[in-house]
Parts: sequence; C-alpha cells; structure tokens
Amino acid sequence: MKIDRRFLAATFLFALLVSLCAVGRAQVSENMTPLLLAVQDAPVPFVGSDGQIHLVYELGMTNFSSGEIAVEKVEVVGDGSVVQTLDTAAVAGRLQPAGLREAAGTLAKSTHGLLFLNLALAPGSKVPSELSHRLALRVKAAPPGHQELSESGGATTVDKRSVALIGPPLRGERYIAADSCCDATRHQRAALPVNGRVWLAQRYAVDWEQMDTSGRIYAGPREKLESYAIFGQPALAVANALVVSVIDGQPEQTPGSYPTNITLDAADGNSVILDLGGKRYALYAHLQPGSIKVHRGEKVHLGQVMGLVGDTGNSLVPHLHFQVMDGPSSLSSNGLPYEISDFEMTGKSHGTKAFDQAESDGTPLPVTPISPPQAVKRALPLDQTIISFPGH
Ligand SMILES: [Zn+2]
Repeated sequence: MKIDRRFLAATFLFALLVSLCAVGRAQVSENMTPLLLAVQDAPVPFVGSDGQIHLVYELGMTNFSSGEIAVEKVEVVGDGSVVQTLDTAAVAGRLQPAGLREAAGTLAKSTHGLLFLNLALAPGSKVPSELSHRLALRVKAAPPGHQELSESGGATTVDKRSVALIGPPLRGERYIAADSCCDATRHQRAALPVNGRVWLAQRYAVDWEQMDTSGRIYAGPREKLESYAIFGQPALAVANALVVSVIDGQPEQTPGSYPTNITLDAADGNSVILDLGGKRYALYAHLQPGSIKVHRGEKVHLGQVMGLVGDTGNSLVPHLHFQVMDGPSSLSSNGLPYEISDFEMTGKSHGTKAFDQAESDGTPLPVTPISPPQAVKRALPLDQTIISFPGH
C-alpha cells in the first residue's frame, strides 16, 4: 500500500514536471488523468411531455488510481459552451458504482461507475452536435497539495437520428407513467452486463399502471389480479410492424411480492417484441398467459391488440412494461427514445415514493391535476405523469 502510494505520488510529480518543462515534447502537454471518462452510447435527443428536449446518457468513469476519487463538479459542455452544471450534491445523486443500485459522489480505488445524465434544453433550443465534460476532482492518491484536479473528457457526438413516432400502447384514462424517463432509477439506471458489454435496454422504459375512478391502483384484496385497474387492459401495437418474438405460457405471479428465483429468460413474462423498422423494436412485457393473439412472423397494424396486461415474469403487480430498443432483445440492446403521437396529460403524481405507497397499500395516489387536461402531440410521457390515451 505504502509503496503504491509513493509510486503514484512520484508519477504525479513527474507528470507535473513534464507538463511544466515540456522536456523534448514541445507541443504536447501531458497530464495525469486518474479518472478515465467515456460515453458508450451517444444520446438521442427527444421531446418529453414537459415540452423540453432531453438528452439522456451515461458518462462512464474508471478510477485508475490507488485511492478514492471524489467528483465535486461536472460541467457538460455542448459545442464549446457549458450547457449544464452538476454540483457535488447533484453528482452524488447520479453517480453509481458498477453493479450497485445506490448512488455515491465518490468512486473507490480501482472501480468503475456511471454518471447518469439528463440534459434538458428549453423548447426550440439548438441541440449541440458534440458534448464533452469538465470535472473537478479530489484525488486521494495524488500527493498532498495536488489532490484537487480538473479533467476534461468523455467527448461524444449527439446522435441526431429520427426518433420513433408511435401510437399509444394502451387506450383509456388515468394511466400512470411509472419509472419513466428521466431521473427515476429502476429502469433508467438498469445497466446490465450481458454478452460482454454493458447495456441499458430499459433506458426509456415505462411501467404503465392505471388508477380507478377513485384514484386507486387496486381496490379489493391486494393479492388478487382482478383488484388492479390495469389488469386485462388490451396492449396495442404502436405501429404497423412485424412480430419478431412471442413468449407465452408463463403463469401469473401473486400481486404484492416479487417472485423468487426467476431466471433471466423468464423476467419479461409473457411478452411480444415488434420490429418497427429502422432498427427499432418495441417490447411488451408481463402479459396474461394465453392472451397473446399474434404470432412470430405476423404483420400487425397500428392499434391491433397484442395481448392483455397481466402480472407474469419478474413483476410485482399487474402492469405493462413497454420499451423501445435498437435490437430484438429485451436485455442486450440499447434503449431508444420514442415519441407518442397523441395523448392527454391530466396530472402529475407526487413522485415515486407516493406511487410506491399507493401501489403497496391501495390508497388513492396523490396527484396534482392539470386542468384543463393538456393535449400533447409527439412526446415521451415523463415519469409519474398521468395520461389519457384516445379510445376506451
Ligand atoms: Zn418495468
């Protein structure tokens, strides 16, 4: 340990000298960058139901040093100008060490983490073409007096491909877009190492739930599937598309608790994947057994019923998990944003904690209403918005 530190301290000092004297390397400035930065998946801008343009992505960080690194500030630079600043507290809420579900503002020695970013730009803003990052760090492995470091890195282009424009996945009123974009953690931060790389297939996933007319997610016994407002709602094709995967035959779970010992293969429960074209795929998960009326290779049309909302696979209560991704796999694919052509926003719940409470005890979900309801064209319903879709 002691040797390590001395070695590192000496290396730092050497690097400092090199950068000061530029011995023999006139034009190259060489600085130690103990935190290595990289963006794997370039953000794809889309419009959220708040009207803002969102760029959602992950800044990978590897602590290549023998001591802890505290990330004290992050500036996101778009085409040369600072477009977002995260202070110490903001970083602490968004930086997650690899494999952990808890955020922290520091990275232990020799560890990797992801900083989950949501850059929101005012409606009509010019979207930058390139992003980079400036970080203020405290590096424990550096010699005393040199522990405050600044670094730049993680340059990425912005992926300005067109966003999938889709129809509604459900019909009717009082739906809750739970764990939706952009700062909820269950989907957006579900970074999974599969087949040799880290994927965020669920980056823009929504768990659709529904309230009854009294604002309850369920009424009656908690363990009964039929108690839930959304149970049995038809899940609809969001476009004219090709069915590329159907899984059926998995039993319903008992609402109120997660199943134990479920395999990765069974996590989606009964599910359908549609090929929307343009390397975009839509997943519907947790459908009722025997309810799926489409088969692999079938062409479906916008609005066609795929199956009924159930509680199969790795599911706590009946809900529709819906996501769009760049491959026909629910795990080893990159989650893509999409915009729904037409819906109404009628309110916003008081947040994930309130939602979890209402889902757990069956009390009405506290909602701040939007009155009159706001008609929205072409947007991704953001986390905890209350949505009405056309039709009944
Ligand atoms: Zn989900």
